[in-house]
Amino acid sequence: YTGKSNTQILSDKVKTITVDHYKSRPVVVNESSSVYEAITTMFLEDVGTLFVVDKLATLSGVVSRKDLLRASLGQQSLETIPVGVIMTRMPNITVCHGDDFIIDIAKKLITKQIDGLPIVKKVTHGSGYEVTGRITKTNITSLLVDLANNESI
Ligand code: ADP
Repeated sequence: YTGKSNTQILSDKVKTITVDHYKSRPVVVNESSSVYEAITTMFLEDVGTLFVVDKLATLSGVVSRKDLLRASLGQQSLETIPVGVIMTRMPNITVCHGDDFIIDIAKKLITKQIDGLPIVKKVTHGSGYEVTGRITKTNITSLLVDLANNESI
């Protein structure tokens, strides 16, 4: 009998967990929203990353806390600059899908040095992605706590 070690069992288990088990709801703003509105949304919704969508509600970009801080250092009024101008834009957005393994997403967050990813689905008509969720370092921290508590996951 060659039994698996406890760490092997834990490692095998971790590798089966998908994004859908640990996702959060996405907080989305329109490209035409002002930087001021984006800052307000970030406070009210208590998130660190906003996903930006176009008129067809497809993902067009991401705005982080530091993107908004940087924009706030500029000379222009925050009410007149649209987030579409300061966001990180598609196709440079790292996305994931609900059935992706969470361990692969954790690796992506590290290599790309970002806090979170939008969870997306291809739109049925036309091109682009619809945003269905959000996965962040906080979700991955929850997973770690559940593992330590030996909760059924
Ligand atoms: P902060 O900038 O507040 O530290 P992040 O580390 O998440 O937050 O973001 C760093 C930069 O990467 C920002 O310019 C942001 O727009 C961009 N960014 C954040 N998430 C993504 C993503 N999923 N794909 C591509 N770029 C992203």
